[in-house]
Amino acid sequence: IGFVNVNKWYGEYHALVDINGKVDKGEVVVVCGPSGSGKSTLIRTVNRLEEIDRGKIHFDGKNIHDAKIEINAYRSAVGFVFQQFNLFPHLSVLENIVLSPVRVKREKRAAARDNAMRLLERVGLGGKADAFPAQLSGGQQQRVAIARALAMDPPAMLFDEPTSALDPEMVGEVLAVMKGLASEGMTMMCVTHEMNFAREVADQIWFMDEGKLLETAAPEAFFSNPQHPRARRFLSDLR
Ligand code: ATP
Ligand code: MG
Repeated sequence: IGFVNVNKWYGEYHALVDINGKVDKGEVVVVCGPSGSGKSTLIRTVNRLEEIDRGKIHFDGKNIHDAKIEINAYRSAVGFVFQQFNLFPHLSVLENIVLSPVRVKREKRAAARDNAMRLLERVGLGGKADAFPAQLSGGQQQRVAIARALAMDPPAMLFDEPTSALDPEMVGEVLAVMKGLASEGMTMMCVTHEMNFAREVADQIWFMDEGKLLETAAPEAFFSNPQHPRARRFLSDLR
């Protein structure tokens, strides 16, 4: 995932200011920064939930604003997990996962179901295929949302505060799934306030404030010796 001079305005407000950065294949980047700094805006530009006004974004070797890209197919191919799980309430867990592979990738139903079952096992929910979202805890729903994203076999996964809406006792199970993905070499960009996760799992930390990417560093360097005064203040406010 590459950002080249990316700029975005909401009306007069300059929400992303000259963002340059690269997430290499297999890398995990954790994006952090104060509320309103532009973290969600940045990550949402990657699947074009937010369009940019200037600059370029590359994903899996392609310019995502190329006219040849079909936006709906592109969006469903980018693995995106939100704070709110956004599962379809009227569909079973299995049907939630099977939907896009069948509709968008034209996978055979039987193959899509087999794959969905395998993904449910992987996120620890092998027994919940026939449950409906409302019958699951928040942590379970979020793990289904991750399985659903994985079903499209995405080249990278994007997470926007995937544990922020969860009760504390469910945060760990979702982070464990994310750690598993990272250790299997998934390319990941995660907005999260879970600094222990960032320390353990990230290859790079990106610190944002006021729409700017102020610091990019390895976690050891970022947490022990942040360079930017704003990053220092952010970290001391956490403690
Ligand atoms: P948080 O940690 O609270 O989720 P964030 O870092 O994700 O914050 P963004 O949601 O990206 O921040 O918002 C960045 C700035 O852009 C904020 O000042 C916000 O008010 C503004 N903003 C976001 N979405 C819109 C929108 N649709 N229209 C106008 N302004 C917006
Ligand atoms: Mg946000």
